[in-house]
Amino acid sequence: MPKMIPPTGLKEIAVKTERGTKLYKADRSGLINVDNPKHAKQMKDEGLGQASLQGASDPKLGFTCIECGFGSWFAKCSRCGHLNERIEMDGSSG
Ligand SMILES: [Zn+2]
Repeated sequence: MPKMIPPTGLKEIAVKTERGTKLYKADRSGLINVDNPKHAKQMKDEGLGQASLQGASDPKLGFTCIECGFGSWFAKCSRCGHLNERIEMDGSSG
């Protein structure tokens, strides 16, 4: 099953389903185990990253908005729209 990487500080995320919403909670490693590929896609659309089965994943990746403090996966804050500075990651390209 896919493991999704929530933004820093986020412990749970709700996805829409046919019957309402389903709440996923992060496990001890900080990742969210998703048993439904559709839900995983929804989370991707929300900006969450998917952890690779191979190699280490770092739940600390992402951005913390300097304007409102919201933990966002993308540089552009999904709460207030502020464009945050890029976080440098060594050895990463593209
Ligand atoms: Zn913000």
